[in-house]
Amino acid sequence: MGWDLHRLEPGRRFLLGGVEIPFDRGEAGHSDGDALAHAVIDALLGAAALGDIGELFPPGDPRFRDADSLALLREAWALARRRGFRLLSLDSVVICQEPRVLPWREAIRASLARALEVSPELVFVKGKTAEGLGDTGRGLAVEALATALLEGGES
Ligand code: MG
Repeated sequence: MGWDLHRLEPGRRFLLGGVEIPFDRGEAGHSDGDALAHAVIDALLGAAALGDIGELFPPGDPRFRDADSLALLREAWALARRRGFRLLSLDSVVICQEPRVLPWREAIRASLARALEVSPELVFVKGKTAEGLGDTGRGLAVEALATALLEGGES
């Protein structure tokens, strides 16, 4: 399982799973801020017991400044695949008050599936609001959760 949260600020791109969604704010962050991609990375690394995103791509490291999070995702997934892991299912939830995620769902599924080199049928994403409550509900942040089911791996 993976979780992430990024603050939303004007002048930043709003990225979910590598898809840029037109909006007046975007995710702040050292990298491109793609909260969903980061949650997915942690879900995959965790399922393979290979560490977490902060260990692999330290946020203070200048190499990862404005990094393309899908490139980080491909790199993390390559590590797991080299250990013999295969993806059976990837599910996720994005929590934000705006923008709506549903119109972008198929594009996000396709983008993540492309990065992981799997069928989009193994990948899902759901959008939820926070009912106006808390920082996420007030539009100050976007949160993402992901779960990955893997099989294989070296014993
Ligand atoms: Mg993050």
